Amino acid sequence: MILFPNKSQCCNCNGCAQICPKDAISKDVTDSGFIYPTIDNEKCIDCGLCQKVCAYQHIEEHNHPLEVYAAAAINSDIKQNSSSGGIFAVLAKKILQMNGIVYGAVMERNNDKFEIYHKGINDISNLKQLQGSKYVQSEIRNCYQEIKTYLSQGKIVLFSGVPCQCAGLKGFLRKNYDNLYIVDIICHGVPSQKFFNDYIDYKFHKLSDIHNFSFRDKSNGWELRARIDYNNNRHKFIPTGTSSFYSLFLDSQIYRENCYSCKYASEHRPGDITIGDYWGIEKEHPDSLSKLNLQEGVSCIIVNNETGRYILSLIHDLITTIPSSYSKVANRNAQLLTPSHKGKYHDDILNLYQNHGYAAVETFFKKHYIKQRFIHKILSLLPYPIKTFLRSLKNK
Ligand SMILES: Cc1cc2nc3c(=O)[nH]c(=O)nc-3n(C[C@H](O)[C@H](O)[C@H](O)COP(=O)(O)OP(=O)(O)OC[C@H]3O[C@@H](n4cnc5c(N)ncnc54)[C@H](O)[C@@H]3O)c2cc1C
Repeated sequence: MILFPNKSQCCNCNGCAQICPKDAISKDVTDSGFIYPTIDNEKCIDCGLCQKVCAYQHIEEHNHPLEVYAAAAINSDIKQNSSSGGIFAVLAKKILQMNGIVYGAVMERNNDKFEIYHKGINDISNLKQLQGSKYVQSEIRNCYQEIKTYLSQGKIVLFSGVPCQCAGLKGFLRKNYDNLYIVDIICHGVPSQKFFNDYIDYKFHKLSDIHNFSFRDKSNGWELRARIDYNNNRHKFIPTGTSSFYSLFLDSQIYRENCYSCKYASEHRPGDITIGDYWGIEKEHPDSLSKLNLQEGVSCIIVNNETGRYILSLIHDLITTIPSSYSKVANRNAQLLTPSHKGKYHDDILNLYQNHGYAAVETFFKKHYIKQRFIHKILSLLPYPIKTFLRSLKNK
């Protein structure tokens, strides 16, 4: 059995391993830290289930956008802990109040590294773990199997993840469930967890001294800024343009191979709704700024089918919405139309990383991103309103 013809055909949703009746599929990790399933031919009985459930290779998506909004949670605390407008958390809370289970990505410190993986929660007190973007590939582990069990028991399940993980779940289940709701998040690509952990270890020295890393810190407003918290109560902000990890991430240099031909970077999204940052809201809907607080963050919501309409109706009273359009959102989120283009340094950077470790990546970044580092260092010193003003000029 061949699991995938080449690396651009596998997104590591782990659906094949979870369906295999003989436990014949394990994981193989490349030198750059990307995980691929591998098959043990001694155990394989050629049943073909692994192929059948592979949405990435074999299942077409037929959803298309029905309604589009700029939106944000009314509750400011929810927005503060979320990357953009807090739509995920509002919906998750509602599902938990309906005694449902909510699945999403969490980040935990284990054995001196950060582990990012999907987990189900049934208690509102755990919701914070799922909030906020973690800009690496989250491991699905056995979530699809668990979800199938819950669905068959009649439990309501909300699954959230990047589009290939949502499609992977649908492929694994191979049938529709009325009690399953799916939210996909706009994604331009995922780096490996190993690359991220090596960045932290190299740049901030002992990983064991750090107790938390937030990929999106909003204490200064809605922007791309990270925050690192040390065990001794100190913390540090990381302006993304000065950080090698963030710059290479945003510049599409370090993604998994399939991200560069992602089939979900289109109008045909696997989620019942799609959520993302509404970048460029000040240009697309200048009048909305009296209703939506830009500094607290604004999301976009794309309703992809009738189930999406239903789940949006569940939270209608808890969010502010402004009607928008797919093309307006896509103006600053090109990954709604086409996959990210592979950065021109992608191969060089991953080769350097594999052969010489993260130190070589940092040296490369310092050499090739001099102008950007300088501009972002200056920008990071400006107050938030001035940065917003400059951003609006750039968007004109
Ligand atoms: C790898 C990645 C790339 C992204 N790229 C874009 C982009 O190009 N444009 C854009 O507009 N938005 C992008 N986003 C989404 C954006 O950062 C916010 O998550 C989104 O706006 C929702 O915000 P929120 O305030 O509603 O919820 P939040 O609380 O911020 O988001 C939480 C949701 O994100 C999910 N999540 C977090 N990390 C991961 C992960 N590693 N893998 C899978 N799911 C995860 C959680 O399960 C939960 O559903 C990306 C997110 C990730 C993880």
